[in-house]
Amino acid sequence: MPTHKPATIAVRTGIESDTQHHAVVPPIYLSTNYSFPNFGEVPEYDYTRSGNPNRGLLESALSQLENGAGAVITNCGTAALNLLASTFLKPGDTIIAPCDCYGGTFRLFNSRSQKGDFNVLFIDQCDDSAMQEALREKPKLILLETPSNPLVRVVDIEKICLQAKKTGALVAVDNTFLSPIFQNPITLGADFVIHSTTKYLNGHSDVLGGVVIAKTAEHAEELAWWGNCIGSTGTPFDSYLTLRGLRTLGARMRAHEENSQRIIHFLSSHELVKTIYHPSLPNHPGHDIAQKQQSGFGCMLSFEFAGSYEQLKRFVNALSLFSLAESLGGVESLICHPATMTHRAMGEEALKAAGVSHQLLRLSVGLEDATDLIADLEQAFESSKEIQ
Ligand SMILES: *Cc1c(COP(=O)(O)O)cnc(C)c1O
Repeated sequence: MPTHKPATIAVRTGIESDTQHHAVVPPIYLSTNYSFPNFGEVPEYDYTRSGNPNRGLLESALSQLENGAGAVITNCGTAALNLLASTFLKPGDTIIAPCDCYGGTFRLFNSRSQKGDFNVLFIDQCDDSAMQEALREKPKLILLETPSNPLVRVVDIEKICLQAKKTGALVAVDNTFLSPIFQNPITLGADFVIHSTTKYLNGHSDVLGGVVIAKTAEHAEELAWWGNCIGSTGTPFDSYLTLRGLRTLGARMRAHEENSQRIIHFLSSHELVKTIYHPSLPNHPGHDIAQKQQSGFGCMLSFEFAGSYEQLKRFVNALSLFSLAESLGGVESLICHPATMTHRAMGEEALKAAGVSHQLLRLSVGLEDATDLIADLEQAFESSKEIQ
């Protein structure tokens, strides 16, 4: 089998795989159980918690896209992170995670460490000395999230993987923000890639899902065993829909990025915009690393609103093409106020440590016409100025 380019893998996986009726698109198998051909002969699939053809196809596509040896589809991204922790961490082990990680990841690791399941160190992974100090704790696992949420900070995957190898730590990268189209952590030395497939991979904001992809077959097997054991695997219907969404990933990511660049250009000269956070900007601290390790700068950005907090609220409420909602990576544009939405569980102190201010707004730029999106931002900035 020749190795194909990502867009081809996304479009072709499972096409013409139906040997019974020769359906071009793979059919959906909702059956929870499968018959044994003969006494003692175990079929490829026996019970859906441990395996299912639709989940298998999605696992195969994502594993190929991330250059892994195998993958486990979970019922959400959080379950993928939890599966990683359940498989590889025991009491006494330490995981290092970014202090500005996804809010739900912070809550998950923080809560499980408080129960004594393992230790967690949340550190600023952009700070070399903090990283060195944390490595002295001999962590079992290091989780990277680059670009991070919501400040899209970038860390050097290759450099951290080399440091981790010396101390015997495994490295997992949450690649949700870029998708395999723009970044391949396993190629850069990572042992695992995590996605919330809820975001760009499905891309249509209608399926919750996650995946852990492993570099080695041994790790993939361990993850599959634990996924079945604790019952966190994804459903056939969700896998079917996610593979359907994945088909257009290559084309969507290109279009998302083009729209993001148009919006950044517009925001960068607006008086009500203070700082824009996006790795494509030369003054972004992660610009050079992003250029080195990513094949696209990504489509998530955030910015500090320069007006008052009251004005910020008027701006957000006046938008009609950016829905005020959590999540990201869908075809529709979204705006989010991290401090009161996605990151509110962190509390004021942790928010401050992560540099998430109440003036910060995050955009998930969708696939509407960029001219319409810019006109919408423009009118909302104008109406935010009106005294009410
Ligand atoms: C959304 C998200 C998650 C959690 O995924 P769910 O599917 O919502 O459970 C984890 N990491 C990142 C970066 C995310 O954006």
